[in-house]
Amino acid sequence: MYRTHTCGELRLEHNGQQVSLSGWVQTVRKFGSITFVDLRDRYGITQLLFGESLNQQLDDQPLGREFVIQVTGTVTERSSKNKNIPTGDIEITISSFSILNAAKTPPFTIQDDTDGGDELRMKYRYLDLRRNSVKQNLELRYRLNRAARNFLDSKGFMDIETPFLIKSTPEGARDFVVPSRMNPNEFYALPQSPQTFKQLLMVSGYDRYYQIVKCFRDEDLRADRQPEFTQIDCEMSFVEQEDVLNNFEEMLKYIFQEIKGITFNEPFPRMTFDDAMEFYGNDKPDIRFDMKLVNFTDIAKGNGFKVFDEAELVVAICAKGCSEYTRKQMDELTDWVKRPQIGMSGLIYARVNADGTVKSSVDKFFDETKLKVWADKCQAQPGDLILVLAGKEERTRKAMSELRLEMGDRMGLRNKDEYKPLWVIDFPLFEYAEEENRWVARHHPFTSPKPEHISWMEDTSKYADIKANAYDIVLNGTEIGGGSIRIFQRELQERMFAALGMSPDEARHKFGFLLGAFEYGAPPHGGLAFGFDRLCALLGGSDSIRDFIAFPKNNSGRDVMLDAPSSIDQTQLNELKIALVK
Ligand code: ASP
Repeated sequence: MYRTHTCGELRLEHNGQQVSLSGWVQTVRKFGSITFVDLRDRYGITQLLFGESLNQQLDDQPLGREFVIQVTGTVTERSSKNKNIPTGDIEITISSFSILNAAKTPPFTIQDDTDGGDELRMKYRYLDLRRNSVKQNLELRYRLNRAARNFLDSKGFMDIETPFLIKSTPEGARDFVVPSRMNPNEFYALPQSPQTFKQLLMVSGYDRYYQIVKCFRDEDLRADRQPEFTQIDCEMSFVEQEDVLNNFEEMLKYIFQEIKGITFNEPFPRMTFDDAMEFYGNDKPDIRFDMKLVNFTDIAKGNGFKVFDEAELVVAICAKGCSEYTRKQMDELTDWVKRPQIGMSGLIYARVNADGTVKSSVDKFFDETKLKVWADKCQAQPGDLILVLAGKEERTRKAMSELRLEMGDRMGLRNKDEYKPLWVIDFPLFEYAEEENRWVARHHPFTSPKPEHISWMEDTSKYADIKANAYDIVLNGTEIGGGSIRIFQRELQERMFAALGMSPDEARHKFGFLLGAFEYGAPPHGGLAFGFDRLCALLGGSDSIRDFIAFPKNNSGRDVMLDAPSSIDQTQLNELKIALVK
């Protein structure tokens, strides 16, 4: 028997018991004739005491870091107790030990504060995973997985697997494709999500489906994305938007309670897409703090200041209590908005002084009375700082939404331990893709328009105004999930495909199976999917989803441990009838 207990289990109550433990050597400390070893496994660390009688054996078989050993001994009360670990009251007085496997010195220390850089830790991810901090992340992921399953199970949702080797599902990214050896010159696509399958399951009558499932999207991996990621994917029949929102709000509340011990008594707030854009400049507002965007275009124009006069949009925020920002801080902020990622040519500001007077960086064009109007418009009080950006509409709104978040960070208003969920609803059905010069589905082509807007689908001039029964769930400024009520009639689905520029032939070729299914009694249905990795990261208080994935890929989509992707040999290529372009 390798072990009677784990390394996290023994306490004073086991004093005097004969036990066996197995695990990894964390540290070896020799004091004269006795040697202390910290033995580690998944469950914790236990101190081992090797007395004089084992010295000879230790000399013959020295223990090193990360050796796997097995020991037998007696649980003994420690004279100097360690309050920092649960097993700190005891140690094991060893009577015999054996080395199960020696280990090379690891390339970085297996500790919370490791000396290993990112690339190195990813190359030796199996060692990185031994670290307590990484282990805790995976434990949190598992608990979240269990909580979601428990909730969904209690509501009658059924976990049904759907295939990975499929035909393209449009979720707005490129597909990963897999060549088929048995069908030369043909390819499968890996699912960007199980979207069409879960809809087919509704047609089949499985009215509550879920799956915690891998999705694959071949995107440029800016920021914190992974080419394969996990969704909690759900679908329900005979529901309206309200039913879906209520069900999954309850699920999130349950998860927060289970994982964080946080109770939400109030319903989650809801905001329309239009309001989110107007007041926060993006569709995933961080509502942990206020600082709403205020449109200054009307009051800014016509005062001889070229930057404002030529702008499509002039927009402001009011940073409470920041009027004392120094010249240096203002220069820093100005540089910040001029960074290529933000792309503005400058930052205008006005300070509301303690005596109520307003001083701006554009005093030449705006006298005290005009600046008072600025202050009124954004409800600035003495001590506040007004920040103004001007330029092309979309870029300026986006820049201001970023500046708002930056100020939120600088002012300490984005506390990681405070959770503010928000439903964003009434998304537009379409968006215009400039590069492709056509309308595309904002969510995906299976999303239903609001019934009152269906007739506008015949008139492209109205496309921008058509709203969908589509919703996102946002947590602290991050989209953690989204979904929609679906189209369930063939005729409307065909109109949707046509609106997206698909010919009837193309629609039949790509989605004939779904159009066909809609003719055999498709129930009204809708659903959503949560980004599971991101939910883990947020509840774990981290910005990086990679920390919560056992074997993640790097920013170029590479697995540096496996060294994948990699070339394949000529025999494999021949079998697949693939010739490489040099
Ligand atoms: N399939 C969608 C997505 O991956 C979610 C949904 O509409 O249920 O975003």
